[in-house]
Amino acid sequence: MARTGVVIIGGGFGGLTAALSLRDADVVLIDRTNHHCFQPLLYQVATAALSPGDIAWPFRAIFRGQRHVRVMMEEVVRIDRARREVHLHHDGPVPFDTLIVAPGSRHAYFGHDAWESYAPGLKTITDAVHLRERMLLAFEEAEREGHPLTFAIVGGGPTGVELAGALAEIGRRALGPDFPSLRLDDLAIVLIEAGPRILPAFSPDLSARAAGALQRMGVTIKLDTPVTDIRSDGLTIGTEFVRTTNILWAAGNRASPLLASLDVPRDQSGRVKVLPDLSIPGDPHIFVIGDAAHCAGPEGTPLPALAPVAMQQGRYVARLIRLGIPPEKRRPFAYADRGMLSTIGRAQAVAQLGRFRFAGFFAWLLWCGVHIFFLIGFRNRVRVMLEWMWYYVTFKPGARVIYNLAQLSDTARARPQR
Ligand SMILES: Cc1cc2nc3c(=O)[nH]c(=O)nc-3n(C[C@H](O)[C@H](O)[C@H](O)COP(=O)(O)OP(=O)(O)OC[C@H]3O[C@@H](n4cnc5c(N)ncnc54)[C@H](O)[C@@H]3O)c2cc1C
Repeated sequence: MARTGVVIIGGGFGGLTAALSLRDADVVLIDRTNHHCFQPLLYQVATAALSPGDIAWPFRAIFRGQRHVRVMMEEVVRIDRARREVHLHHDGPVPFDTLIVAPGSRHAYFGHDAWESYAPGLKTITDAVHLRERMLLAFEEAEREGHPLTFAIVGGGPTGVELAGALAEIGRRALGPDFPSLRLDDLAIVLIEAGPRILPAFSPDLSARAAGALQRMGVTIKLDTPVTDIRSDGLTIGTEFVRTTNILWAAGNRASPLLASLDVPRDQSGRVKVLPDLSIPGDPHIFVIGDAAHCAGPEGTPLPALAPVAMQQGRYVARLIRLGIPPEKRRPFAYADRGMLSTIGRAQAVAQLGRFRFAGFFAWLLWCGVHIFFLIGFRNRVRVMLEWMWYYVTFKPGARVIYNLAQLSDTARARPQR
């Protein structure tokens, strides 16, 4: 293969923004999936409010007609700095002059990897469809058997809060009336947080308002309660055992294991400790961005794992490459923090925008507007807006189809090989 200019690993918020900003370079974008996934709305796919196609956009559609970007659907297994190549799972190595590493992170189980099979996390479209499947099947089973239904969500950050709120709403208002023998009082949703409050990145007053809103929706919040064990029939928090097979994991992240092959210092979460220009120590033409990077903010603490951080870093690195700025003339990356939003449920959210902090309907409207604005593709924006309006008026989630994935994969396994 001929020597290429820029290779980008990962087409998430960071890698995609970099590729779109590198108009004049020869770019190879490698991603193990064929689509960009809008992770902030994954929980809506997991709770059957949106369909997978509403929040994912194929790379080949994004880069249609843009000849400077070549898309490869492949898994990168190793980066060879000495030979300036990335090694792939199937194809031969891809050479690079400049490399942007943006493979993001995956949920982490604090050393208890076995918990994953009982408490799946939410990071990809596949995860979301898997969770949706489990949730819908749990409702079907509870209806059939007539037994109570408990969902336990581990982690009180934005994802845990969003999942708890959406489940409470769907369970109590939308799915309930469709399952006549299911007593709604039998539905329990428990949100478990190891720290002293939910949404710890927000101010204490907004955390308290989010907690109040969730409790009014029927969610039980357990604070200061780290999970000590997860089994097939439930989880242990402190001395209490919560019996449930519906456990969702929304706590802890670990950066991609691929980063180990760069052989540079990393932090406890596996993120590469990048230099102020986001390059790695000793190699000014390899950059690490987004959730994979440990980039110190103004107070010395690492910047949060947020989409705007990854996007701004993608744009910053693309500019350095486009203008060919040498290392000694590069200005450090500076994150422009425009605030944080988290939704709790229908018509309820919290917003922290600098000195302005508010909760409720207007925060939710802002949350809707921001998410529609950042979705990729006009079609997706219109479809998501229509789905939300429909749900707002009718309380009927639109994507409640069970594919029966487990059965499908059994059938696929049983198919004779030619
Ligand atoms: C459920 C959820 C909700 C979130 N909500 C919000 C929110 O409301 N607001 C907000 O700002 N942020 C939110 N985030 C965080 C935000 O999505 C991330 O910070 C952001 O996606 C990081 O971008 P990235 O480019 O670093 O990685 P990602 O967007 O994760 O992209 C990584 C890409 O790399 C690919 N990849 C990984 N490994 C390989 C490999 N070995 N070979 C090839 N390809 C590979 C993946 O397929 C993926 O496409 C949320 C995240 C999740 C999971």
